[in-house]
Amino acid sequence: MTTPQQTAATAPPSPWLDLQSTPASSPSTALAREDVAAFLAGLVRDDPRNAIPESGHPPIWEAPLVHVAAADDPLWETLKQPDVVGPLHRSPGEWLAGARSVIVYFLPYTTVLRRGYPKKSFFPSLEWVSGRRNGEVFNNVTRRALVRLVERHGGRAVAPSNEEDYRAEKMRPMWSERHAGFIAGLGTFGIHGALITEKGCSGRMGSIVTDLELAPTPRPYSDIYEYCPYPSSGKCGACIPRCPADAIAPQARDNQKCVVHGRDTVGEHFRPWGYHSCGHCLTWLPCVDRIPPESLRLSKTPSA
Ligand code: SF4
Ligand code: SF4
Repeated sequence: MTTPQQTAATAPPSPWLDLQSTPASSPSTALAREDVAAFLAGLVRDDPRNAIPESGHPPIWEAPLVHVAAADDPLWETLKQPDVVGPLHRSPGEWLAGARSVIVYFLPYTTVLRRGYPKKSFFPSLEWVSGRRNGEVFNNVTRRALVRLVERHGGRAVAPSNEEDYRAEKMRPMWSERHAGFIAGLGTFGIHGALITEKGCSGRMGSIVTDLELAPTPRPYSDIYEYCPYPSSGKCGACIPRCPADAIAPQARDNQKCVVHGRDTVGEHFRPWGYHSCGHCLTWLPCVDRIPPESLRLSKTPSA
């Protein structure tokens, strides 16, 4: 299997396909997913840091989707396999003793940032690369705010991506928020490597691990590419020619090509600002703000 974590193109892993059900649990009422969603919607709406410093300061993020995964979901162990994320990946209980839940959210880029990305230009807009950099700063604010929210409800929490010892080796991280999103029912992968959610793929993921028990969100899919039509039917494939670095192959993304293009080519272009990263595959594609209608998911749902 090639998950989008990898560069080689192989078939999807059977462990993912064998474990479809969300484990049963008995959630406490200390903090519900709806409380977290309302809290984060308020943060995104009211915090002045959710804005780029250029071009009249448009907001970067819309209100996030919020999902919950059980800390004892068997899929966490699957992520340690070499052909999924890798052995460096830690399960929730290895980040926080007594972990019960993982809260995962997806922050969608605002329409103004997404639509401002030139459709045919080789380079992104200044607003986009600024949103990519400053948006991740705000994402760190969001992770820390969530930790404090849990603490106010009597729990403990850790944001793995913000921990001092967090690292990746050869692009295999200790914690993958995209894979956490898959486990939490947020979405499935596209061949471009991003997670496609109900609000599309154009955004960023964030997550925390907590010892509070929240009800896990159902996982409504049975395939890691269920929201991307290409692996099942060969339809779409629009992200392949759109990538300026030739980094997207039919079943996987070459992360090294992507990083080099974003860091060196785009980074050089925006050197006076200190911004980098690309984003062609998060704009002007059928999956940027929705699940494509040709996906396996929607094509087998008559009312969709
Ligand atoms: S552009 Fe099409 S083929 Fe590429 S990830 Fe999105 S839905 Fe899949
Ligand atoms: S971010 Fe750019 S270089 Fe990287 S895979 Fe997407 S389109 Fe290609």
